[in-house]
Amino acid sequence: MESECIFCRIVDGEVPSVRVYEDGEHLAFLDANPRSEGHVLAIPKEHITTLDELGDEEIAKLFVVVKRVAEALKERMGAEGYNVVSNNGEIAGQVIPHVHIHVVPRYAAQESRAGFESVLPVDRKAKSRLEEVGARLKIQ
Ligand code: AMP
Ligand code: ZN
Repeated sequence: MESECIFCRIVDGEVPSVRVYEDGEHLAFLDANPRSEGHVLAIPKEHITTLDELGDEEIAKLFVVVKRVAEALKERMGAEGYNVVSNNGEIAGQVIPHVHIHVVPRYAAQESRAGFESVLPVDRKAKSRLEEVGARLKIQ
């Protein structure tokens, strides 16, 4: 049965992509709307929606792929840094509901030095409640 998920269709080769890495369980390919040259998406081949739904071993392996991509971006593309971003859930801006890690190379020639903090401004209320939230969130 043909999948409705575009990333599953990329995995199956039904939708074209520029692949930069592949193994039995993962694929990394160029984002079709790159934020910079060499913007890569790393995905597990299995259709899983968000990071927290991945098993511990699966997530570790996915991030090894992210590391390989980052190494290649530095060595082959001359990236001096990179952003690793993953949007999880519609409210977080996830458009494609198949878990993916953006690896966005950064170059000296780029004007902006903006990092993750540019995504959302500081939440003043959250800033005033750090201790309370920390206690609530503590993972044993
Ligand atoms: P997100 O907002 O994290 O779900 O981002 C989804 C990303 O997938 C966007 O950066 C899109 O440019 C990218 N994208 C969507 N369709 C394709 C496609 N067919 N091939 C490559 N990248 C895609
Ligand atoms: Zn999928």
